[in-house]
Amino acid sequence: MKIIYRVSSLELKHVFTISRSSRTTVPVVIVTLHDSGLTGYGEASPNSRYGENCMSVSEFLDRINAVELMEPLDPGRVGHHLEALSSHYPSAKAAVDIAVHDLLAKRLGIPVYSFLGLEKPKKVFSSFTIGIDSPGMIRSKVLEAINYPILKIKMGMAGDEEIVRAVRSVTDKPLRVDANEGWKTKEEALERINWLSDQNVELVEQPMPANQIDDVRWLRERVDMPIIADEALQSIDDIETICSAYDGVNVKVQKLGGLFRTKQVIESAKMHGLKVMIGCMIESSVGITAAAHLASLADWIDLDGNILITNDPFLGMENRNGEIVLNDRPGLGITPVL
Ligand code: MG
Repeated sequence: MKIIYRVSSLELKHVFTISRSSRTTVPVVIVTLHDSGLTGYGEASPNSRYGENCMSVSEFLDRINAVELMEPLDPGRVGHHLEALSSHYPSAKAAVDIAVHDLLAKRLGIPVYSFLGLEKPKKVFSSFTIGIDSPGMIRSKVLEAINYPILKIKMGMAGDEEIVRAVRSVTDKPLRVDANEGWKTKEEALERINWLSDQNVELVEQPMPANQIDDVRWLRERVDMPIIADEALQSIDDIETICSAYDGVNVKVQKLGGLFRTKQVIESAKMHGLKVMIGCMIESSVGITAAAHLASLADWIDLDGNILITNDPFLGMENRNGEIVLNDRPGLGITPVL
């Protein structure tokens, strides 16, 4: 058993701006596990919001002893082993966990969703994300996304209303709004959500900074629109705290440390009465396809990271006009683009 990794730079079709950052490329780490003629693929898309970058991912991966880690190969045991190395580095752990699932499912000749005891997702649609931009660019991005039935609009800066007006000047399709912690007071958040409530907006994600739980609780008592936690959910331990303030959670394999942990978080969230969105970072088809294997568990899907880039190094899950379509090949069902 060998672990090999390489850094790959994903190039975005458009400058990707959210309330706290703007990017044109996203460095990711592709991990491969090689064993007895089979290869398992994984990916880390480290995010500075969660204290990671490619350097920290590489350092963590260098500390893994593949021989010790891998046999008997079991995602729960691998998770414990990685946790014992450090309590942090969620995307680095996700990369290893995804590769372990790919390899194990390939050994058994079954898709990862079957390995996880899940159904193949049927007729599930992802939103398509429109980053913050000038009204003119927003209009052209929305027109470019004409085939995608649901849009996720990034907000949380001055000019939020202009963004929505630009979107609404070209389409009336349902919107999901993500403020990425950008509204700083509960009064500001209330005003924005009230304004959005007659704009055919399905939900609002992370309206205020993650630590302002009491403010979100106050807000939720005053609005009907579902409020979803993203940055406020970083581990299974957060569920207990956030379940009284939010209607749902955005779970991401990259911030929760892999498929095994993400499935546990989804189960806990549901037990606490929370709805579930499966979301993503900017990731190639390795990470996005991995997350798609959990899609049958979700109320909402936001898995579009791989269609926002121009140089995806893998083929995997297909996004057919927003519909998530997995193939039935063993493992993740992905192949490197040669
Ligand atoms: Mg979000």
